[in-house]
Amino acid sequence: MFDMTATVLRNFLSKTHTRLYPFQVRETFENVRGNLDIRIEECIMCGMCQKKCPSQCITVNKDAKTWEVDPYSCVYCGICVDHCPTSCLFMHKDYRKPAKVKENNQQVQLKGPEKKKKAQE
Ligand code: SF4
Ligand code: SF4
Repeated sequence: MFDMTATVLRNFLSKTHTRLYPFQVRETFENVRGNLDIRIEECIMCGMCQKKCPSQCITVNKDAKTWEVDPYSCVYCGICVDHCPTSCLFMHKDYRKPAKVKENNQQVQLKGPEKKKKAQE
């Protein structure tokens, strides 16, 4: 009985080994693939990311100049990032928050810049 009381007291007074998530959030590791993002102004709408994505969650429309990703289908593998010729795709270290309900506004659709017209001579 005394042994058990001593153990309980020791555990009670010692430093905790777990975190009180979500109040204490651990910093993410280096090179973690948390969330996909794009610098749309650097995108040339080549469609390579759409072609290489194993989840088929990227849609590039060259004519409409739109780049779209479905975050519910993305597995954050980073293949699109590795194959983007302009390096405009990148990963954030922060994870996307989990959702209880699939909301359409989580879909990311961005419009690229219009091509500059050549000056008339
Ligand atoms: S990270 Fe992977 S799954 Fe997500 S869009 Fe890029 S290639 Fe597709
Ligand atoms: S691979 Fe890069 S440049 Fe090409 S469409 Fe995708 S994001 Fe844009």
